[in-house]
Amino acid sequence: DINDFSITPAYKELAPFAATIREQHADILKSARMRQDFTANVSHELKTPLTAISGYAELMENGMVPPEEIGSFAQKIEKNARRLLSLINDIIRLSELDSSNTQLLVEKFDLFEEAQICVENMQIYAEKNDVTITYEGGHQEITANREMINELINNLCANAIRYNKKNGSVKVRVDSSQGHPYISVADTGIGISKEHQKRVFERFYRVDKSRSKQTGGTGLGLAIVKHIVALHDAQLNLESEVGKGTTITVTF
Ligand code: ADP
Repeated sequence: DINDFSITPAYKELAPFAATIREQHADILKSARMRQDFTANVSHELKTPLTAISGYAELMENGMVPPEEIGSFAQKIEKNARRLLSLINDIIRLSELDSSNTQLLVEKFDLFEEAQICVENMQIYAEKNDVTITYEGGHQEITANREMINELINNLCANAIRYNKKNGSVKVRVDSSQGHPYISVADTGIGISKEHQKRVFERFYRVDKSRSKQTGGTGLGLAIVKHIVALHDAQLNLESEVGKGTTITVTF
């Protein structure tokens, strides 16, 4: 019992360090618990599309599917296979980010230019979802890993489009506040309630699981964003109101 320092003289010597030891012990337990949760979640998330794929394939193999429905079964198999691939890609990405704290390759570049590129690449996706996406602001030079920043902006924009409303909008802004460059992605979407705001950056946490799945979400996008922000010693801020929209800001 690490809380009982009266048992042996050696423990008495450790007593002055009790608070630190207790804190470290709690940290170790917390990260062990998080690892266990993550492994359990990964297994569950991977099993779901795999079970569906093998189920549909078995029905087809046994001749249980009428010829006119073969096409739609094949589509279901393809959809689940694509989902499996996105999940595996995001899981691999998170584990790469976990081990990349040793050396972060950085370069100087214009955050505004990067935002422009991302927004332009998102235009078709936004149109498909009946959402408009625009950028504003101006030149802001940052020193960062360009690929990761690109990924961060893409993840935020994809969410801002996916959790939006019909004819909604997304505004990406690059500016500076008290000398610190920032990028914000603001949407006019469904918003996130206070109780969920604290948790959306956790791995596999979704407010509405079926909406996330329908729109191709893995539940890992914001966990990847949080990781990239931490690697850059940047700051992450979320403001949201249910029914009105969400703004996520990353300040460098
Ligand atoms: P997902 O792949 O499910 O989108 P994320 O990690 O990117 O996973 O986001 C976690 C959850 O946070 C989402 O499932 C969604 O419920 C919520 N969320 C993220 N971005 C937004 C947003 N811009 N507006 C409303 N809800 C959002």
